Parts: sequence; structure tokens; C-alpha cells
Amino acid sequence: MRVTHEAPLAPMTTLGIGGPAGVLFELFDPADFPEFVTLADASPGEPVCLGAGSNVVVSDAGCEGAVLRMSTKGLRMTGSTADGRVLVEVQAGHPLGDLVDTTIAEGLTGLEMLVGIPGTTGATPVQNVGAYGQETADCLVEVTAWDWELRRMVTLDAAACGLGHRTSVFKHSRRWTLLTLVFALRRSALSAPVTYRTVAGVLDVPVGSSVPLEEVAQAVLTVRRSKGMVLGCSGTDDRSVGSVFLSPEISAAQADGLRARHAPVNRFPDGSTRVSASWLIRQAGFELGTPVVTGVRLSSLHYTLVADEGATAAGFTRAIELVRQEVLRRTGVRLTSELDFL
Ligand SMILES: Cc1cc2nc3c(=O)[nH]c(=O)nc-3n(C[C@H](O)[C@H](O)[C@H](O)COP(=O)(O)OP(=O)(O)OC[C@H]3O[C@@H](n4cnc5c(N)ncnc54)[C@H](O)[C@@H]3O)c2cc1C
Repeated sequence: MRVTHEAPLAPMTTLGIGGPAGVLFELFDPADFPEFVTLADASPGEPVCLGAGSNVVVSDAGCEGAVLRMSTKGLRMTGSTADGRVLVEVQAGHPLGDLVDTTIAEGLTGLEMLVGIPGTTGATPVQNVGAYGQETADCLVEVTAWDWELRRMVTLDAAACGLGHRTSVFKHSRRWTLLTLVFALRRSALSAPVTYRTVAGVLDVPVGSSVPLEEVAQAVLTVRRSKGMVLGCSGTDDRSVGSVFLSPEISAAQADGLRARHAPVNRFPDGSTRVSASWLIRQAGFELGTPVVTGVRLSSLHYTLVADEGATAAGFTRAIELVRQEVLRRTGVRLTSELDFL
């Protein structure tokens, strides 16, 4: 474990903003975790866990107490379920991208649509990471975590994780630090059915088709790149957290009204009906590439906020508030940020 005092956190986030950690603990070996618990107990405030920093805004003052950067790596197949799915155990700091690539190469379906999403595997249950019709909840079996309240290791099955639309019991909670995760994936050369029209369009297949895993992954990457949703693909919009806002849940009456205005309104696996946050931002009059506050602007490819030279956490937070207010005023729908403010 590497311990650094007053460690700058900005380079450890994709936005590249924010102050230092009072003490940064970088965990490479899970066997060192008990030592971290002892040291964190001696630090002020509650410990904060950081993965790849792709869904957080670190405050300009930084984090006073202990920050744990989860840098453990490794995955292994541990057996199979009664219905023949392959169990894959993954360390929390393992890059999600590598997990997705490995499972595709092994001929396992369940995570292929998550290709191109940055971050660590340990963060995937936090907001039930998902894209293009697949989400963590589809194949997560259980997580092993340190419970700071019970002060012991616990194993939570998927039901206990409370996975919903971009949420879980872990979201906006510091109670658990996730250390290992187990997924169950089905052997198949073909992908899950392609449910998104844009992905089906790139593949030139009807919606509902299954195609070779590698082909669907390439198609998803093509769609994601066109929206600047793959880090490093645009050259200008890389200081990004992806979507800043959740697609808000709406009532049946709101859905009818918005459909009449040709809004993208979709039903999600948790039973909720939601309207696209990007569509709302566009309706509120924001234009691609335009500044909102100093150092923060709309992405040039997608209706989300990105950071530029001169960005601060205070400015990013202010920009979020300005977008929320304008969307509410112009559309009557309240946006919620999906980010964690550290
Ligand atoms: C270009 C881009 C595209 C994106 N596309 C998508 C998308 O399609 N779908 C989607 O769902 N998300 C997307 N995201 C958001 C982000 O990638 C995911 O939320 C990802 O899971 C965050 O992982 P991370 O390791 O960077 O977590 P961090 O940003 O470091 O942390 C996020 C939260 O998880 C907590 N956390 C992290 N690791 C642990 C752990 N081991 N134990 C307990 N808590 C932990 C942190 O405390 C924090 O609250 C995108 C982001 C970017 C920049």
C-alpha cells in the first residue's frame, strides 16, 4: 500500500479538478486492507473510496480525511452456477474495460454492451452501471465489502445491493468499501439481443438480433464515440464524467405530454419511465460546445457538461445548478445529478 500526504486528487479524476487528499492510500494488495482500516481510523472524517474518478467531482478544498484509491487488480473464473453460467470473481480495482474485453474474448455474454465505459469494476454496483440495454444488475451475483458500520467483512448478494436505475444501497453512502465482486455470465458466441436502434443501425440488423460479441462491442463503441462517450476519442471533450444528469423519472401524464413533443421516453428494467436528460438540456436552449460558466461548457458532441482550462469544482457545481434551473423553467422537469461530490 502506498501512503501519500497532501496528494493532489485532480489527476486521479477524469474531470481533472479538485484539491488534495489529506492522506491518500493506494491499495494494490487486498491483504493490506486491514492495515488501511487501522490507519483510516486514526484519520479525521469518514474514509472515501476512489476508483478511476470518472463519476466524481472532488471539491476545490479536497478531502480532509483518508482517501482510498482502489488499485487492486485481477480476475478469475471460480466455477459455474446450477444453470451453467460461468462465475467470474473480480478485484474491485480491476478496470471495467479489461473485464469486458476478457469476457468477450472468453466467449461470455453479459457485459459486452458496457464496452467503452471507464472506471473500476468495484464502482459498477454503486450506480448499477449500464448502457445500451445491459446493466450490472443483469449478472452481478454478490460483492464482498468492508462494512464501516458493522466493522467487519460482509458478503451481500445482488438483492441486498438494492440495484435500481443508476442507483443502489452504495450510492451516496460511505458505509461499504467493495473489495471483490462475482458475476455470472453465460457462454455464448452471440451477444444479448440488441435493443437500441442506433446500435442495430450500425450493425445493419433488426432490433432484437444477436450478433457475435466482438461485432456488437465494435458497434457500441462506434455509437459511443459519435457522442464523445469514450475517453480519448474526441480530443476536446475528454475532461468528462459522461452523463452528468440521470434521465429523470416521469409520471404517466408527463410522459404523454413529452411524447407529444417527440421526446425520447423509455421504460427501464426497474419499471420506471424516464425521459432523456440530453433531450431536456437541448430543449432548455443549451447548444453543443457553448460555455455555461468559466471553464465549464457543453460537450461539442453530446448534451452534457465537460471541463476546460480554468475549471473549478465550484464552477462545475454552479454549471450543474444553472442547467437544472433552466431545464426546470423551460420543461417543468427536475434534473438530478448522478455524480458523487467528494
Ligand atoms: C466518458 C464517460 C462515459 C461514461 N458512460 C457511462 C455509461 O454509459 N453508463 C454508466 O452507468 N456510467 C457511465 N459513466 C460513469 C462512470 O464511468 C461510472 O459511474 C463508473 O462506474 C465509475 O467508476 P470509477 O471507478 O471511475 O468510480 P469513481 O468515479 O472513482 O467513484 C464513483 C463512486 O463510486 C464509489 N466507489 C468507487 N469504487 C468503490 C468501491 N470499491 N467501494 C465503494 N465505493 C466505491 C466512489 O466513492 C464514488 O461515490 C461514464 C463516464 C465517462 C467519463
